[in-house]
Amino acid sequence: MEIKKVLVIGAGQMGGGIAQVCAQAGFDVKLNDIKEESYAKGIAVISKNLSRSVEKGRMTEDEKTAVLGRITKSLDLQDANDVDIVIEAAVENMEIKKSIFAKLDGIAPQHAILATNTSSLPITEIAAATNRPENVIGMHFMNPVPVMKLVEIIRGLATSDEVYQAVEDMTRKLSKTPVEVNDFPGFVANRVLMPMINEAIYTLYEGVASKEAIDEVMKLGMNHPMGPLQLADFIGLDTCLYIMETLHEGFGDSKYRPCPLLRKYVNAGWLGKKSGRGFYEY
Ligand code: NAD
Repeated sequence: MEIKKVLVIGAGQMGGGIAQVCAQAGFDVKLNDIKEESYAKGIAVISKNLSRSVEKGRMTEDEKTAVLGRITKSLDLQDANDVDIVIEAAVENMEIKKSIFAKLDGIAPQHAILATNTSSLPITEIAAATNRPENVIGMHFMNPVPVMKLVEIIRGLATSDEVYQAVEDMTRKLSKTPVEVNDFPGFVANRVLMPMINEAIYTLYEGVASKEAIDEVMKLGMNHPMGPLQLADFIGLDTCLYIMETLHEGFGDSKYRPCPLLRKYVNAGWLGKKSGRGFYEY
């Protein structure tokens, strides 16, 4: 199964990054969003990232133009009608993802792979919204996509070996490292990372230390490049909350309950870097 044409759904921080690395690897990419302004914001970020690469001598101006030329705007899911793979990176919400996958199933060619960049939602359940669960797979990129090497590849219950292999091959073409994992809440990355972030938020909530102190302890003490509260801001606090809720519901274990302070910030619209304010101001 050869993949040439890609549709990326969601032009936010992840979708934009995925579109960028796909275009850099030579794939034809359509970048879809429901909002025109989100598409515009997404493509502006990609352009800025590429300009930085030109300034640093990692890419020529002509290469930048060619990469941007391989990305086209899409505001309609009908644009899935001639692609080989769809990589969905819309918001972390099961109902929205299921609705997108059900629609895609009726639009995308029969051979097309339907991949999701979900951080934690069950691939098997998303696949069940389609009549091609063997073609549905998780392709979990890390943030920021152009920088981070890992892609967790998650097999749903019905994912075929052929589809797994095609996605693994594509991941290597993107100069990323695929790691195979099975479909359980949070997979591996967020099953381990998110409870640590949630605990850091509890530590702040209970007044054990200031946000700066918590981040400093984890940076200097554990050699993490960034403290957990700053990392939460970068990931997006709404995404962090969705992931904790998925772990909590998926395992039915109270150890995954989201910290009330996280919920409060999300309700306030303090979503982290993307909204200008989270634990820190941007
Ligand atoms: P984001 O809020 O930055 O972007 C989401 C984008 O999707 C927005 O531009 C929004 O307009 C668009 N959108 C919403 N509904 C849509 C629809 N029905 N059709 C098309 N576009 C739609 O979010 P993000 O951080 O890029 O996260 C996207 C996905 O990637 C989530 O599933 C998230 O869990 C996952 N993810 C996030 C991270 C992270 O660090 N932020 C890491 C790995 C995976």
